Amino acid sequence: APTLVWFRQDLRLADNPALHAAAEGPMLAVYVLDDAAHRHGGANRWWLHHSLAALAKALEARGAALHLLHGDAVAEIPKLAKAIGAQSVQAGRLYAPWARARDAAVAEALEAEGRKLVLHTSSVLLEPDRLRTGQGKPYAVYTPFARAIMAMGEPPPAIPAPGKLAGVKPPKGGVSLGSLKLLPHKPEPDWAAAFPAMWTPGEDAAQARLAEFAGEDAADYADGRNTPGIDGTSRLSPRLHWGELSPRQVWHAVAGHGQDGGRQTWLKEILWREFSYHTLWHRPQLPDKPLRAEFEQFGWQPDAKLLAAWQRGQTGYPIVDAGMRQLWKHGWMHNRVRMITGSFLVKHLLQPWQDGAAWFLDTLVDGDLASNSQNWQWVSGCGVDAAPYFRIFNPILQGQKFDADGAYVRDFVPELAQLPDKWLHQPWAAPEAVLRGAGVTLGQTYPKPVVDHAGARARALAAFADLRSGR
Ligand code: FAD
Repeated sequence: APTLVWFRQDLRLADNPALHAAAEGPMLAVYVLDDAAHRHGGANRWWLHHSLAALAKALEARGAALHLLHGDAVAEIPKLAKAIGAQSVQAGRLYAPWARARDAAVAEALEAEGRKLVLHTSSVLLEPDRLRTGQGKPYAVYTPFARAIMAMGEPPPAIPAPGKLAGVKPPKGGVSLGSLKLLPHKPEPDWAAAFPAMWTPGEDAAQARLAEFAGEDAADYADGRNTPGIDGTSRLSPRLHWGELSPRQVWHAVAGHGQDGGRQTWLKEILWREFSYHTLWHRPQLPDKPLRAEFEQFGWQPDAKLLAAWQRGQTGYPIVDAGMRQLWKHGWMHNRVRMITGSFLVKHLLQPWQDGAAWFLDTLVDGDLASNSQNWQWVSGCGVDAAPYFRIFNPILQGQKFDADGAYVRDFVPELAQLPDKWLHQPWAAPEAVLRGAGVTLGQTYPKPVVDHAGARARALAAFADLRSGR
């Protein structure tokens, strides 16, 4: 009997255990588009659209079509399995609470008719349930978590991509690949206009970038990773999010080139991703609620205008604005600047971290419920193993330190490009003549700061003190 392979966030042929389990016999590959419409942000959907097109092409070249479905997976997957007479549905396991609930419902519906849903470990190195502390608890601190994974040694080798596939003819009722265009991923104006020059979704491009980064750039990662103005990181995040690559492939690609300082440091970042997935699994409230419950009482001061200034990169703080504009333009932001902009929102502007997390999820091509939620809680001081709330990034010093030559700010905030380095990260402090010479009029060509740094810092610390004293 044929097997149904349900693609979700494992859009690849190589090292895909679900596909591998089905590849021996007749099979049908399916993707349920409603995921895309309802569960993923705008930039995610842009990526998905192109990645699905690449996957469909790769499957076709091996003799299997990618069947697309609209509708609720809980109804559609069992219906399709029945229509082709499949005994089992194979898929990569997902970790988001909504996906877990849905998989449980699909499994139940399938079982009612004598079929089963088989979930494979596909987007993490290790199932969260298989890693616990000596006391049998989930890890709440990253360093021992990473050490425990490292101590397990190499993961099993990656599974090669299948050769020929025996695709069965899909029943009527699917939607054509052309209808991918109907995915709501192109609002007007088309904010994603600059994405294609920046990104090529799909497994082939992912593999090429991995080989290039692991082979060359990773050696310099320890030095280059904190400079947003250079291309010092892998930019593999959307590929890992959509499963164009597996973390196991990444691990082996790195290990294959030896384990110098840069590569070690990089592997540790992959383990931060792993830690985020494990945390989401064990603490499904991660996307919505502070893991340190006392933060539920924090004195946020929601303000739609301030939130909008942050979203649009109009705060008057150049490094913050550069980051937010990079996010909008490219669907991606450098990690150092994610920390700076995140901290600025929750501390300088006292806006709830959930609002920042929602904006990131909608605008990042790598927007990922596990990594995004975990990092926002980290930035806000309310997560497990988080940065303490009282440590407040100074956006001026951060800019001067990590964008010392101003390359990053000048790229994304061109209206400040003519300012000398000395004033670039604090234009409001520049003498009038310097501003004039650089063609900058604060409040007109570039905003005045929406808050004063020193005052905002004091206000944030006071809000934190109130929280601690229970006021
Ligand atoms: P590299 O530096 O090359 O790292 C390699 C890979 O390791 C990344 O592709 C990513 O998969 C993983 N990784 C690196 N840093 C982290 C981290 N801190 N946490 C989890 N995984 C990490 N990452 C996402 O993938 N999706 C998100 O939605 C997301 N939201 C974030 C929100 C905030 C507020 C912050 C501070 C960080 C967020 N990150 C998120 C983590 C990190 O910024 C990105 O993974 C990284 O910038 C991606 O660029 P890269 O692929 O070049 O990373």
